[in-house]
Amino acid sequence: MADDARFETRAIHVGQAPDEATGATIVPIYQTTTFTQEAIGEHHGFEYSRGRNPTRDALEECIASLEGGRFGLAYASGMAAISGVTQLLSAGNHVVVADDLYGGTYRLFTRLLPRFGVDFSWVDATRIDEVKQAVRPETKLIWIESPTNPMLRLIDIAACGDIAQQNGCRLVVDNTFATPYLQNPLELGAHFSVHSTTKFIGGHSDVIGGAVVIDDEELNEQLRFSRNTTGGVPGPWDAWLTLRGLKTLSVRMREHARNAARVADFLLERPEVEQVYYPGIPDHPGHELAKQQMRGFGAVVTFDIRGGAAVAERFCSETRLFSLAEGLGGIESLVGYPFLMSHGAFPADEKRRKGISEATIRLSVGIEDVDDLCGDLTDALERATSTG
Ligand code: PLP
Repeated sequence: MADDARFETRAIHVGQAPDEATGATIVPIYQTTTFTQEAIGEHHGFEYSRGRNPTRDALEECIASLEGGRFGLAYASGMAAISGVTQLLSAGNHVVVADDLYGGTYRLFTRLLPRFGVDFSWVDATRIDEVKQAVRPETKLIWIESPTNPMLRLIDIAACGDIAQQNGCRLVVDNTFATPYLQNPLELGAHFSVHSTTKFIGGHSDVIGGAVVIDDEELNEQLRFSRNTTGGVPGPWDAWLTLRGLKTLSVRMREHARNAARVADFLLERPEVEQVYYPGIPDHPGHELAKQQMRGFGAVVTFDIRGGAAVAERFCSETRLFSLAEGLGGIESLVGYPFLMSHGAFPADEKRRKGISEATIRLSVGIEDVDDLCGDLTDALERATSTG
C-alpha cells in the first residue's frame, strides 16, 4: 500500500495483510491465550496474549495509522484505556482537567486516583487562560475531551498543546466523540489520543473496548508495561469486532453526521425545544473552532426540552426508533438523559454549572433513514408535551 494512502484505504488495509500461514484475506481471530515456543525463548514474537496477540496487533496498527500516530494500544474498555494513561502518574503529580467530561472519567479522577496521591484542578477549558493558570510545576497532564460529552463544547486542542509544550507536561485528548475520521489530536499537538472504541469505532453497539494512540516511543514502552502489568487487554474476539467496525468508520461517520445535522435543524424549528447544542449550527459558540480542528461535526445532538424534568423523562420513554439506553456511537439511534444516566456520578450543582439540567436530552443519531428519525422525534415531542 502506498505511504500516502488515504483514510478509507488505510482503514481496510493497514495491519491487515493476508495471513502468512494460510492466506486468509481477513485477519483471523487468534483465539489463543498462549503460543508454542520452538525452544525456550524461540518464538514468533508472541508468548502470551496478555502481552501480545496477532488479532490485537492488527487493530492497534490500524488505529495508530488512522490517528496519525506511530503506536496504538487496545484496551478492554474506554475506561481501561483512560486508566492506562493515568498509570503513568505517581503520587504528588498534578493533572489539569477540563470540567466538562464523561461521568466515568470524573468518577476515576475524583473517587479513585486522589487516594493514590494524584491531585486534580478542574477548569473550564473553553477558556484557555484557565488552563494556563492552573498548570503547576508538578503538573504532568492536561486532560480534555473535545467535543465534550454531553454539551458538545469545543476546546482548542492546539492551544492546550502549546501550554503543555511550554510547561513540560503532556496533553491527553479523549477523541471518542470525533473519532479519527473527523479529528486527529496528535496532529494538533496532543501527546495522547484516547478512545472508547465502544462508540463509533466499534460502531455496532456490540463490543466494549478502548484505545490509546501515541507518537512517542518511550510512552509506548511505558503504556505497554503498565497494560501488561495490570492486564486490561481486550480478548481476540473483541479486538476483531472492533477492527471490523474500524473498516467502515468513514462510511458510517459520513451518514451519522449528515443525519445529525438534519436532526439538529429539525429540533431548531420545534416549539417544544428550548435550545439545541450541535457544533454544526453556525451560532454554536464552538462552530468556528470545530471548522478549524475537525472535518465535520459528529453525530451527537443535545437539546433542552421545554417543561423540565417531567416532560424530558416522558420524551425519553416516548421515542420508538431512538432507544433509551446508555452509550452512543452505534448504527442505531439512542436517546439518553445525562442528568441521571451518563452524568449521574456528578453532583447536581456541578451538572447545572456545566449546563446539564433535568431538561437536557442527548441523542446519538444513527444511520437509519433521517425522515423516519425526525418522524419519531415529532411523535415523541408531541406525546411528551400533550396534556391529555
Ligand atoms: N470517554 C468518553 C467520551 C465516553 O463517552 C465514554 C463512555 O461513554 C468513555 C470514555 C468510557 O468508555 P467505555 O464505556 O468503553 O469504558
